[in-house]
Amino acid sequence: MLIDTHCHLDFPDFAEDLPAYVARAEAAGVGRMVTISTRVARFADYAGIAERFPSVWFSVGTHPHQAHEELDVTAERLVELSRHPRCVAIGEAGLDYHYDSSPREAQAQGLRTHIAAARMTQLPLVIHSREADDDMAAILREEMGKGAFPAILHCFTAGEALAMTGVELGLYVSFSGILTFKTSESLRRIARMVPRERLLVETDAPYLAPVPFRGKRNQPAYVVETAKVLADTIGVDFDEAARITTENAQRCYWKMDHAAPVAQVA
Ligand SMILES: [Zn+2]
Ligand SMILES: [Zn+2]
Repeated sequence: MLIDTHCHLDFPDFAEDLPAYVARAEAAGVGRMVTISTRVARFADYAGIAERFPSVWFSVGTHPHQAHEELDVTAERLVELSRHPRCVAIGEAGLDYHYDSSPREAQAQGLRTHIAAARMTQLPLVIHSREADDDMAAILREEMGKGAFPAILHCFTAGEALAMTGVELGLYVSFSGILTFKTSESLRRIARMVPRERLLVETDAPYLAPVPFRGKRNQPAYVVETAKVLADTIGVDFDEAARITTENAQRCYWKMDHAAPVAQVA
C-alpha cells in the first residue's frame, strides 16, 4: 500500500467526481490520502471530505499564500480544531518567496503560530517552503530550540542545506512528482542523502503530475509513479519503496491509527 501524504481534494478540479478519484487511488494501491488545508476558514470542507471517505484524512492550517488573511487564528484555535478525529496534521504553513502572495512577515508569523500548535499537539506540521531556504532553516532551528515538534518538508524542491537541516532536526522530507522530471537530477541526489526512515511521497494534486502524466491534472493514484522513481533513485524495488514510505507516513501521521491524547493548551 502507498499513502499520498499531501493532496488537495477540496479543489474545484475534483468537485465533479471526487468518489471516482478516491476509488481510482484505492484501485492503484493508494490506500490512504491526506487532504491538506490551505485556509482555516474552509475547515468544514476538509472535515466533510474526510468524513465521507474512510481512506481520507485531513489537516488544519493556513497556506503561506493566505497567511495575511488568517493572522487572527491562534495556535490554541488550531489545537482545538485539530481535535477532530480525522484531523492528523497542522498546516500547510511556511514561506513562499517565489510568489510572495502574502507579506513575508505575515508568512513568518503564521508559520510560528502553526509551529506552536504542532508542538502542543505533537501532530506533524506540514511545511511549504519555496525559495526561502535560509529563513526557513533559521526559523526551524530557533523554534526547535524552544521545544520539539514533528514536521514534514513537503513537496521538497529546496537545496541540500535545507534538506540536511531538516534531517538533523528530525523532520520528514516528502517528494512529489517533481522527482520524476528528467531535469530533477539534483533533487534525486538529495533523495539519496535523506535517511530512508525520513522519506515520504506525495502528489500535491491537482498540481505537478509526475511523468508520464506531466501536464495533466494530477490525482492521488499517480503517487505510484513517484514511488517508482524513488525506488530506482535509492536502489530498492518498488515494494520496498512502498513499504518504507508507508511505514514512515504511518509513523509521522500517527493519529491515523491512534486516538489523539488530550492536547495540552498552554
Ligand atoms: Zn505546498
Ligand atoms: Zn499543498
